[in-house]
Amino acid sequence: GALLSATGVRKTYGATDALAGAGLQVWAGEVVALMGPSGAGKSTLLHCLAGIVRPDAGTVRYRGADLAGLPDRERSALRRTDFGFVFQFGQLVPELTCLENVALPLRLNGERNRAAAKRAREMLTELGLAEVAGKRPGEVSGGQGQRVAVARALVTGPRVVFADEPTGALDSLSGEQVMQLLTAAARERNTAIVLVTHEARVAAYSDREVVVRDGRTRALEVTR
Ligand code: ADP
Ligand code: ADP
Repeated sequence: GALLSATGVRKTYGATDALAGAGLQVWAGEVVALMGPSGAGKSTLLHCLAGIVRPDAGTVRYRGADLAGLPDRERSALRRTDFGFVFQFGQLVPELTCLENVALPLRLNGERNRAAAKRAREMLTELGLAEVAGKRPGEVSGGQGQRVAVARALVTGPRVVFADEPTGALDSLSGEQVMQLLTAAARERNTAIVLVTHEARVAAYSDREVVVRDGRTRALEVTR
């Protein structure tokens, strides 16, 4: 079966139907782009798939298990071990070095400082980011910061990376570099990516585009 699936997912905020019965299947190792206009429900769908937002109705299953049926503690443990996250900006802790930022998810998973720092350094080196290891996020470019965020998302070896407008704050060249790095590194690991973007050039890095409109996933899908 699918690695991750949403069926008939609804989510209402006050009078707004953010999701009105959305469905999506994500297969292991696949890069899926959620496209569509602002306010269509893309981020809400991503948050439901990641177990951050609980649907009002419908089901999200990860490896067959209903996320809403898991105790909170198990769901957050799952997020830390099986999922990685890249957001638009502001996700790196400014007081920590880039190396410490990449080590952070490992520390949160209970790894000792030295082992976490070693793995973080290996990840930065593998992604061509060794020279920023000792710098703080404020001392690197926006593109480098997002590539460090990619390293942080992948360092725990997740099965799925959720990327919400990961290039939204970057110029187009830096954005392409981030997408190149993210998709190449994910493919090497057979890590799936759920990507939210409204830029066709960013979506072009996916295997499959799904259009979200008025809280529904549209039947039209573009597959490469
Ligand atoms: P997209 O990512 O496609 O821009 P969103 O999922 O962010 O769309 O939002 C869908 C709709 O739900 C929008 O009208 C948005 O304002 C609303 N919405 C999303 N999250 C919240 C929230 N936490 N509280 C209130 N309204 C929300
Ligand atoms: P995106 O740019 O990805 O569509 P937004 O900037 O719309 O995201 O929203 C960023 C965060 O704020 C999300 O977590 C979303 O759920 C929340 N949010 C969006 N719209 C509203 C709203 N009207 N009221 C409160 N929170 C919102």
